[in-house]
Amino acid sequence: MTEPVKASWCEIYPDRIANNLKIGLDLIPPETGFCAVLKADAYGHGINAVVPVVMAAGVNHIGITSNAEARAVRDAGFAGNLLRLRSATPVEIRDALQDRVQEQVSSPEAAQIFAKLAQEGHPNPGLHLALNADGMSRDGLELSTAEGQQACLRILDLVGGHIAGICTHFPSNTPEDLRHSDQRFQADVSWVIEHSRLKRTDVLVHAGSSLTLGSRQPVTTDMYRCGALLYGIINRELGFRPTIELKAHITNVGSYPKGSTIGYDRAVTLDQPRRLANVSLGYANGFGRDSFGRGEILIRGQKVPILGKISMNTIIADVTGLTEVQSGDEAVVFGQQGQECIDIVRSEHQFRTIMADLFVDWGGRSPRVYLPGTASC
Ligand SMILES: *Cc1c(COP(=O)(O)O)cnc(C)c1O
Repeated sequence: MTEPVKASWCEIYPDRIANNLKIGLDLIPPETGFCAVLKADAYGHGINAVVPVVMAAGVNHIGITSNAEARAVRDAGFAGNLLRLRSATPVEIRDALQDRVQEQVSSPEAAQIFAKLAQEGHPNPGLHLALNADGMSRDGLELSTAEGQQACLRILDLVGGHIAGICTHFPSNTPEDLRHSDQRFQADVSWVIEHSRLKRTDVLVHAGSSLTLGSRQPVTTDMYRCGALLYGIINRELGFRPTIELKAHITNVGSYPKGSTIGYDRAVTLDQPRRLANVSLGYANGFGRDSFGRGEILIRGQKVPILGKISMNTIIADVTGLTEVQSGDEAVVFGQQGQECIDIVRSEHQFRTIMADLFVDWGGRSPRVYLPGTASC
């Protein structure tokens, strides 16, 4: 039996990921490491397909969040450092031992779990002490309070010998914010070093994501952890290009007279006769309902508006004047067709969210097709 024909699909371009990665690595300062962030199934791209790209570039740190992702990375043959970029539940921690996941620790409760596992004889692949440093208040230990300092000392007492890294995550990447966050993080790291037997040269101090790197504001870090740049959704001027295109097919074309209402709740009424095309995707495939009144799609190399409320598996495009449009034509939601392009600016405006959210959504909601080539609009 052949594969069923796809209604909507994500075209994924691993060669573009490789290209983006190369541009990213070239921006990394000397003596500084790089962690490729493949959480959320590699931002919707399919982690199995992205691990080989990252390995081919010699990257030896990969960041994930779920145990399923950790397993996929190991199954793909990656033997390097595998970091979880959030705290984990006790059950997750125990389950992830087999995949040698380096966990974050930011509470004495978590430290107790790691100490117990060590007592049971489980080797520890290295822990990362997560600091709040400057304002995410997510998974990080706050060191500005006496309570936080006590907690830190307790953690160091319990698992100081397993600490391989000290990390934080910046909440904002404006140059001014970064200068402040960087100072705060360095001060916190110094406090930890002074109050422990850790040597600064033995621990990997890491902070900074794609936006930090793209900001060109230098921060003190031994390693940047980057996801967005791999998928081309930052700093277009530096050469990064998006790595997913979302497509579907025209299923039907029909003519409707002036006064016809369109879609659910009759939200739109035609002010003149129009030719309308049905396209084979809707909110179930990531064409968000929020795009009402702002939607555009490429058909026959032209941008055409989407009319009416978005249905579950169908949208309605105004193809008046495009006389050749017929059932089976390709329609592009994001990406290039002919000389035209629906780009990041357009898509983020239309769907009222950021590209990372869209890629994760699209990749999870439509089948993925992997194609060669680096050219993109
Ligand atoms: C997601 C994440 C990153 C990567 O962020 P990008 O903006 O995609 O580069 C880095 N560090 C942590 C802790 C993260 O959660």
